[in-house]
Amino acid sequence: MKLVIAQMKHETNTFSPVPTPLARFARGKSTPLEGNEIREAYRNTGSAIGAFIDLADRAGAEIVLPVAGNAAPSGPVEIGAYEWMAGRILDAVRRGCDALLLDLHGAMVTERHDDGEGELLARLRKLAPGLPIGVALDMHTNLFPAMCDNATALAGYQTYPHVDMYETGLRAGKPVLDLLAGKARPAMAYGHRPMLPHVMRQSSLDAPNLQIQRRAQEMEKQGALAATFFVGFPHADIPWAGASAVVVTDGDAAKARSLCDELLDMAWQARAQFVYGIEPLEASLARARQAAGGPVVLLDHYDNCASGGTMDTMTVLGGILDAGLENAAAFAICDPQAVEQMKQAGSGAKVTLDLGGKSDMPSLGLKGKPRQVNGTVKRIIDGAYRNEGPMARGELMDMGLSAVLDTGKVEIAVITRHSEPYDIGAFRALGIDPARKRYLMLKSRVHWRAGLGPLAKSVIECAGTGVCTSDYSQLDFRRVRRPIYPLDSI
Ligand SMILES: [Zn+2]
Repeated sequence: MKLVIAQMKHETNTFSPVPTPLARFARGKSTPLEGNEIREAYRNTGSAIGAFIDLADRAGAEIVLPVAGNAAPSGPVEIGAYEWMAGRILDAVRRGCDALLLDLHGAMVTERHDDGEGELLARLRKLAPGLPIGVALDMHTNLFPAMCDNATALAGYQTYPHVDMYETGLRAGKPVLDLLAGKARPAMAYGHRPMLPHVMRQSSLDAPNLQIQRRAQEMEKQGALAATFFVGFPHADIPWAGASAVVVTDGDAAKARSLCDELLDMAWQARAQFVYGIEPLEASLARARQAAGGPVVLLDHYDNCASGGTMDTMTVLGGILDAGLENAAAFAICDPQAVEQMKQAGSGAKVTLDLGGKSDMPSLGLKGKPRQVNGTVKRIIDGAYRNEGPMARGELMDMGLSAVLDTGKVEIAVITRHSEPYDIGAFRALGIDPARKRYLMLKSRVHWRAGLGPLAKSVIECAGTGVCTSDYSQLDFRRVRRPIYPLDSI
């Protein structure tokens, strides 16, 4: 048995000014991983592709690994990058295989396609009409019909923070291997509801997604091969952005349909709970001054690089500096220019920097606004670290050349590659102990809860500036299907 296993992951924020060339998928190299490099990188990691490799090894299969590309979220994928990766997957299938297992995100927009994954799967289906194809997807999938119509089995994460990537790989891969072994006949149903859940209300640790995901898990315990509710990724102005579901059963299409509808109905009935209420920043910072104990997480959720944020807006950090909050750490400002200045000055030097604000945000009609900050260069590191988990456990991460700027009150991590703070490893690499800080400013939305949630005494959500704004009225939606809740009252 010969299996092709590949990864091509990107969550595209169509409002983001951050470019997405091939190198963004390559983690510091010029092109994404291929062949044995993939095995080396993903062996014993909590990833879907790692699960696919384990499944294939256990089945004694020959494995072909044409490409593994995983880029931090940003604007539409450059067409050359897309074709480079898609071409490798198509070539591998053209050379012949018994099945294909794909680790995709499910919200990839390219310069030419609203639905990067559906386009890939449609090309694959045309090339190999009967090929069993299993696909692991992120919970933030924006599900286009072409994705379902051209695959054999789809399974998406059931947790947010995403701590079940490995299990999702198993859920997507097993139905396909069972099909090959004559032990299952996957039947799939999918559907949508016209709603754009706010990301800040999507965590599976809280209602209503907690209950919906529990029900999906229960369906699997009761015999469904895979049951998935996707919260969707709203910062993509494409027709099928928003909530959807897909259920795979063993040979029972009617059952798949009814279970899929049940998940969608649960979500629709809870639609008002998926709406996020915004507090003005001044009120949030006033609460921060009063908050007892620590660490108090100050969540700069409008500028999360893992949702396409530029990670360099200074509104919330500026507010913290103006408020005079002490014993604080901030992760992070992505600003290669500032890091270079700190490197030139050297560890221990006093510097004055125009920090952050290097990126304009045309979709919001905003110019980047740096802020002058004085401080001491406390540390300069190469920025590589390994995730301790529970999210993407064991994966090698790279925030690029990085430095800590100490203002005396706030230790500011300044990095050169977009990395969301969801793992304690990032702080350890920088020599910051987050548990000892009174305040922790994090540019994140939900994933920080994976590795840093247990440390937090309390959390204050801070509405700053950025292309993953939680205020939909700041975004000019033109192409998403209408009506859709809560943009329209339905
Ligand atoms: Zn996600």
